[in-house]
Amino acid sequence: MKVVNPATGETITNVLDDTAETIAAKVAAARAAQPAWAARPIGERIEILRAFRGWVVTRHDELAATLTAETGKPISQSRNELSGLLPRIDFFVDEAERTLADEVVLDDPEGGMREVIAHEPLGVIANISAWNYPYFVGSNVFVPALLAGNAVLYKPSELATLTGLAIASMLGDAGVPIDVFAIVVGDGPVGAELLSHPLDGVFFTGSYPTGRRIAESVASQLTRVQLELGGKDPVYVCDDVDVATAAAGLADGAFYNNGQSCCSVERIYVHHLVADEFVDRFVGTVEQFVSGDPTDPDTYLGPLTRTAQLDVLEAQVTEAVAKGATIRAGGHRSTGACFEPTVLTGVTADMAVMRDETFGPVIGIQAVADDAEAIALMNDTEYGLTAGVYTADEARARSILSQVRAGSAYWNCCDRVSPRLPWSGRGHSGLGSTLSTAGILTFVQPKAWHLRQA
Ligand code: NAD
Repeated sequence: MKVVNPATGETITNVLDDTAETIAAKVAAARAAQPAWAARPIGERIEILRAFRGWVVTRHDELAATLTAETGKPISQSRNELSGLLPRIDFFVDEAERTLADEVVLDDPEGGMREVIAHEPLGVIANISAWNYPYFVGSNVFVPALLAGNAVLYKPSELATLTGLAIASMLGDAGVPIDVFAIVVGDGPVGAELLSHPLDGVFFTGSYPTGRRIAESVASQLTRVQLELGGKDPVYVCDDVDVATAAAGLADGAFYNNGQSCCSVERIYVHHLVADEFVDRFVGTVEQFVSGDPTDPDTYLGPLTRTAQLDVLEAQVTEAVAKGATIRAGGHRSTGACFEPTVLTGVTADMAVMRDETFGPVIGIQAVADDAEAIALMNDTEYGLTAGVYTADEARARSILSQVRAGSAYWNCCDRVSPRLPWSGRGHSGLGSTLSTAGILTFVQPKAWHLRQA
């Protein structure tokens, strides 16, 4: 399989992708190796994951360069992703022992009865991952899964294969047995081949259409499935805000990582009283963004990673303009696989740019009459990943956000993920949650011990 640099179109290298035979061998080896891994004291697994963290620190520069080369992510943002990985690992290694400890829920010496909840690993799981934040979305699964005693078959995205190989080599160097964390290299059909084997869990990060296909494909085996899917993340700007601060924060939330984040701001609704000022300031910020060579530390916007997405962006902009939207910034492809940061106003809910995941540097801004209209529009989507409100009034934000169907609610912030909080989606945004202690318990199943003294 070719690994191509999206900024230059050049082939970086060729890698051997997995075949039906190699996948079958890896699944069998993982099955054989998992019990011994689970039997090791949790303290040993924690030390191994700490050693993995050490490798991330040691290899920081080289890993950032590789991530930029294969995804086109600007180098400063690749560095940020690697730095942001460290507190996630810290959270999991610090919380794993306490979260996974047995819990005595009845201790009745007189009756001679104890009841204990224990946590057993699922067994052998598949971790099928996306390319947009490969360190984040991968580690949300494989770090707690390994800590909990599972074996992991990790299929990185075909657009982040070299990063996947680097992760596998660092885990190996840290002491995870090669059969306990096995990388499966390849594209969608390779992932489908992996899922044809009996597995104890499938943990997927990617798009809604692929997630649904995966859930359907493993349903007959009754395999546990977790899906972290896309979003059409809305933000509402109220009339009482500091408009300059809101505009600057939201421009970053919409365009960071080229808008290729599941929680990128995808739709903005603005109270009509501040709409004109907001748009002016927002466009002013966007016009300052530096686009171009992703290896330049000053670059904020590089090429799109999946170059076919250029057609999606072009189609959304063309349709919006045909239906009456105004282009206030950008609107076109630029050099190579780059798309100009694009701001559309006069948008309406029937335009694809306000309904379908854009996953690129294009944003629609719509003026609304009041909070009630904003709530109705924010909920007018099949997705339900994140939603935000910018207002000086916390009670107003909480009232609005409690009425919006979304797994994460942001007050005066956006495009934010915390290891301490669960990450989950409603509707087409997914099933289950990662991160937080809930994202550790995701990788175990409870065993109910009924213990009567002889
Ligand atoms: P994708 O759905 O195209 O691919 C995801 C992974 O699935 C890749 O590894 C791919 O090779 C594999 N795959 C494709 N078809 C398969 C099949 N039939 N069987 C098994 N595996 C298969 O998604 P992508 O382009 O890599 O990622 C972008 C999407 O991911 C966006 O929709 C984004 O919002 C979403 N995402 C969600 C989160 C979240 O936490 N909710 C985080 C990051 C990205």
